Amino acid sequence: MLFTADHDEARRALQKFIAAEINPHVDEWEDAGIFPAHELFKKLGSLGFLGLNKPVDYGGQGLDYSYALMMAEELGAIRCGAIPMAIGVQTDMATPALARFGSDEVRKEFLAPAIAGDYVACIGVSEPGAGSDVASIKTAARSDGDDYVINGGKMWITNGAQADFICLLANTSDGPVHRNKSLICVPMKTKGVQVARKLDKMGMRSSDTAQIFFDDVRVPKRNRIGAEGEGFTYQMMQFQEERLWAAAACLKAHEVIIDETIEYTRNRKAFGRSILDNQVVHFKLAEMQTEVELLRALTYRAAEALIAGEDVTRLATMAKLKAGRLGRELTDACLQYWGGMGFMNETPVSRAYRDTRLASIGGGADEVMLTILCKMMGTLPGLAKRGDA
Ligand SMILES: Cc1cc2nc3c(=O)[nH]c(=O)nc-3n(C[C@H](O)[C@H](O)[C@H](O)COP(=O)(O)OP(=O)(O)OC[C@H]3O[C@@H](n4cnc5c(N)ncnc54)[C@H](O)[C@@H]3O)c2cc1C
Repeated sequence: MLFTADHDEARRALQKFIAAEINPHVDEWEDAGIFPAHELFKKLGSLGFLGLNKPVDYGGQGLDYSYALMMAEELGAIRCGAIPMAIGVQTDMATPALARFGSDEVRKEFLAPAIAGDYVACIGVSEPGAGSDVASIKTAARSDGDDYVINGGKMWITNGAQADFICLLANTSDGPVHRNKSLICVPMKTKGVQVARKLDKMGMRSSDTAQIFFDDVRVPKRNRIGAEGEGFTYQMMQFQEERLWAAAACLKAHEVIIDETIEYTRNRKAFGRSILDNQVVHFKLAEMQTEVELLRALTYRAAEALIAGEDVTRLATMAKLKAGRLGRELTDACLQYWGGMGFMNETPVSRAYRDTRLASIGGGADEVMLTILCKMMGTLPGLAKRGDA
């Protein structure tokens, strides 16, 4: 991946923004269990950061994916996982399909304000009864003249308590499960949309995660993204950007934790020397740094393939799997070297340990990543159906 002076300039602007507008508030937002999404997104949107690789016609910067990658990586400087995730949902999880397949009308109505930071977006795939097995979702959008009437419910929806619209995956017919779904933009203020509860989580505390019900929610069919029945395919494509984002966003965050662990263990003494002065400790940290660099190489390779227009399912799946596994190993190892302080909520390593745990579950669990890879390797019966979250 070749980053240019333009990337560096954008990177510096983002670093400045994070240092001035985000990090000073993170502790307060984590305690509150929510952050001011509209306020923050408006500022990010004004700087162009919510549409780096989105079409210029809708207010985006029209740049290639390398800029989105740079941004995802740089968000790792934020002192929690929740705010990067909320931003990532807006840019790389809830809007890629809309940007690529949405009609001019639907993009004007939903994409343009999401890029400007006037709308907060969320993505509604998972349901109480269907997470890994996306094909089995039950939320239905029944055709009624020029409208859909939606009934069902979504679970664990990031940004769900503050969102202005949800990019909703729903069944629009009774046909085969991979051909009966559509992605539909549903304004959250529509009658019948109910944010039932904001969920209490072990990590990602400042990100709001909601359970949402849809009770006879009527939306015009023009709110559908692309062709009817293609929603499953669009979502599987959209997942590739989500998974690449998840891998990129953990790189810098991991390095920060390693650096802080070096600092802490250098200053902490036991048995007449610093904790860091034990070979088992500094060897482990060197190994973790090497693993982060390997993950970076894989993630960049996948990003290059994406820019070249190739199908990145295999590489993005591997990167997401590795990101989840490495996050658990790295934060666990680092926390151990912080000893009792590692167990305290006040230390960054403890927050990282809790936040990072999600990477092996959200956006498709590790086992789902392995299933996709096995299908692609031909070690599981049947071709890769790309049918798993
Ligand atoms: C904080 C948070 C934020 C989220 N944000 C969103 C969001 O914005 N939008 C959205 O749509 N969803 C969101 N999710 C949901 C997330 O994507 C799902 O939780 C995830 O896909 C797993 O689904 P599940 O929880 O139903 O697990 P299940 O499908 O019930 O699976 C449970 C476990 O079983 C194992 N498993 C599953 N399948 C297999 C298999 N084939 N072989 C072996 N083991 C298997 C895995 O270990 C998995 O973790 C979020 C979740 C969390 C926790």
